[in-house]
Amino acid sequence: MLHIVEVLGMSYTGSTMLGLMLGSHSRIAMLGEVHSVSTVGCTVCRDGECSVWSDAFRASLSGVPGVHQRVANRIGVDYVVDTSKTPPPWSSWFKDTYDPAAHYVVVFLNKAPERIAASFALHRKQGQEAVDVMETWVAFDEMCSAYMEQMQRRGAQVLLMRYEDLALFPDRELRRVLKPLRLAYEPGQEQFWNYEHHQIGGNTRAVSNLSPLDPRESQIINESEPQNVEICVEQHRKISLDEKWRTVLLPEEVDKMWADERVVEVAQRWGYGKGGKLVPRSYWPREVGSQEG
Ligand SMILES: [Zn+2]
Repeated sequence: MLHIVEVLGMSYTGSTMLGLMLGSHSRIAMLGEVHSVSTVGCTVCRDGECSVWSDAFRASLSGVPGVHQRVANRIGVDYVVDTSKTPPPWSSWFKDTYDPAAHYVVVFLNKAPERIAASFALHRKQGQEAVDVMETWVAFDEMCSAYMEQMQRRGAQVLLMRYEDLALFPDRELRRVLKPLRLAYEPGQEQFWNYEHHQIGGNTRAVSNLSPLDPRESQIINESEPQNVEICVEQHRKISLDEKWRTVLLPEEVDKMWADERVVEVAQRWGYGKGGKLVPRSYWPREVGSQEG
């Protein structure tokens, strides 16, 4: 049976890092952002043919159902991770990607308001203020919540994950995803740079760790995103918590973000307190790892 881990999350929440850590398990393949497969090839095999995502294979996926099963067959695995981040349907290029024969685990990744606002500020979204990012943060939470409910009705297992927990306790968080897959954690799999990957798109900073190059050189190679230099992996091949918001955001910006009741409500559910603090969070109904689930 095919097992599909779908990773949801806004940009810069660590989806590429999580996918690569999961894909470093001997039974699991990290596919990357499958929604981009029509326009983007393998991020790791920058030059030359990729053994997985050849141009001909990518083109053959257009308009046919069962995209995940077809890629899994090609690689020879029963477990795949899709870090498309946004719930389907993605585009007219794909027919409905939902595979009723597969087992789904949906992971929704999130990051504290201060950290996500700082990430967007660092990526120079023109004219976008911290409060604008919070509008998107609240709307994205609502959209993903609706999708998770839909997927639960279809028999999927869902779990919420905070970027901060993944950065601080990667083995513990990986076990939470592996448990519903009935797979054992493999020591060292969080050091994803020690394993081979072929993935579509993804965060340049995380992907640059797959290369022995200095990450600053790797970033220059990806001309489309020269500014994409932050989060997930702070220094080359070292996972640490991103605290750049402390220098990027002004105190009054933080006050303005937290003055919005909707931000406070979403933050409480996720266990985020003002000032980048982690506080106990509530569980999604029947979430994997909760007392009910
Ligand atoms: Zn490749």
